[in-house]
Amino acid sequence: MNTIHTTHPTYTFSPTHTPIHHATPGDILCFKTYDCFTNRLLPPNATYENTPSLPGNPLTGPVSISGATPGDLLKIEILTITPGPTGIVIVGPKSGCLRDQFPERKIRRVPITDKEIQFTPQIRLPLRPMIGTIGVAPAGEDIPSVTPSSHGGNMDCTKITEGSTLYLPVLIPGALLSMGDVHAAMGDGEVEDCGLEIEAHVTIRVDVIHTDTIHTPTVTWPLLETQDAWISIASRDTVDEAWQAADRQMFEFLTNQVGIDPYEAGMLLTLTGDLAFCQTVNPKLTARMEFPKAVTAQYGFHKLTRS
Ligand code: CA
Ligand code: CA
Repeated sequence: MNTIHTTHPTYTFSPTHTPIHHATPGDILCFKTYDCFTNRLLPPNATYENTPSLPGNPLTGPVSISGATPGDLLKIEILTITPGPTGIVIVGPKSGCLRDQFPERKIRRVPITDKEIQFTPQIRLPLRPMIGTIGVAPAGEDIPSVTPSSHGGNMDCTKITEGSTLYLPVLIPGALLSMGDVHAAMGDGEVEDCGLEIEAHVTIRVDVIHTDTIHTPTVTWPLLETQDAWISIASRDTVDEAWQAADRQMFEFLTNQVGIDPYEAGMLLTLTGDLAFCQTVNPKLTARMEFPKAVTAQYGFHKLTRS
C-alpha cells in the first residue's frame, strides 16, 4: 500500500498542482490528512491568536491516476478512516447559525477512542468518521479547498464514510485526487460550522470507470453509493438551488443510468427519495438525494457499469 503524506499540503483543487504520487487503477492508497486547522490547535494551550495563521482545509495530494481521462468517472472506495486521538470542535461569533449566541470563541479538545468520543468525562458520543473534503482538479480556474462543487470538494457529507464508494467526474487527464478535513462526527447540516475536526489516515481503493462502460449521458456530479442507497450530491449558492439540483441529478441518474421512465422516476422520487442537507455553512451549500437500491434493483440495475 502506498502512503500519501501531508508534507506539502495544498489549499486549492487545481489543474496546475504537481502530483505527489502516481497511482494505477486498482491501487490501495493511504492518505494521511491534517485536521482542517493544519493541526495547529491540537496543543492544549494553542489558540487562533498564539499560533501562526494558516488557510483552512489543507488537502493531502494530489494523486494522479493513470488512464483517467475527462469524461470518465473516478471510483473511490473508502475502505477505512482511522481518526487521530484528539478531535477539535469550536463554536463562536464568526460563523454558524447560532453565532449570536456565542460572543466568545470556545475551543474544545475531545479525546477519541476506538469506538467513542469522550465529549466530557460524563458524556460520550458515537464515533462516526467521515471525509469532509475530497475532490478532483477542475479543468478551469482553481477552486479553494473550502468550496464544494461538481468536482467534489468541501461537501461535508456524512455518508462519505467507511464502506461507501464515491464517483467523481474526471475533469482533467489524471484526475488529481486530493482530500482532507476528516471529521470524527458531524450532524447533517453542520449547522454551527464545525465537525469534530481530526487528523486521520484514510485508506481507499481507486479505480477509473471509462465513459463507454456506463449509459449516456454520463454522470457529471458527485455520486455516492452506500450499502443500501444511491446518493446524488449537489452544491449551489443557495439552499433552495442545492436541494433542487440534488433532486434533478437523481432524476437524471434514474432516467439515464437506471433507465426508468421519467414520469415513473418522478413518482418514485416523491415516494422513496430522501432529501437531506450535507452542510449549510460553506461558500456553496450542499444537499443530497438518497434513493434506495432496493428499488433500483427491481429495475435490474445493480451497478454503475453496464458489463
Ligand atoms: Ca468541511
Ligand atoms: Ca471540517
